[in-house]
Amino acid sequence: MILATYTKPEDAHLAVSLLAGNGIAAYIRDENVTSLHWLYSNAVGGVKVEVADEDFELAMEVLNLPKDEGILKCPHCQSDNVRIREMSLLSGICLALYLPLPCASQKVDCLDCQQWFALKP
Ligand SMILES: [Zn+2]
Repeated sequence: MILATYTKPEDAHLAVSLLAGNGIAAYIRDENVTSLHWLYSNAVGGVKVEVADEDFELAMEVLNLPKDEGILKCPHCQSDNVRIREMSLLSGICLALYLPLPCASQKVDCLDCQQWFALKP
């Protein structure tokens, strides 16, 4: 099952080698799509790291992932078929000026139930 999703392939590789060091076999999904079209990585949900079901709990501990937050899920229908909306102009300005980001709460669209929710900072 999908353990975590990374926007950068190198982060996913790091996670996989960390897991391998702990005797957990992990696999990378969607890497090619993301490498070729990194601009569209959000469209495929980023680079996914997958582990066997029985290794899931241990893998979460190894990577120190907060439970239930390793995967972006729709709070309405629990689907992980979600897409982060592009950053708004206002958020971009905040980032550029290194301001705190109260205005950068990104919205996430659920592709299954068509609702949206705010991405937790
Ligand atoms: Zn949904």
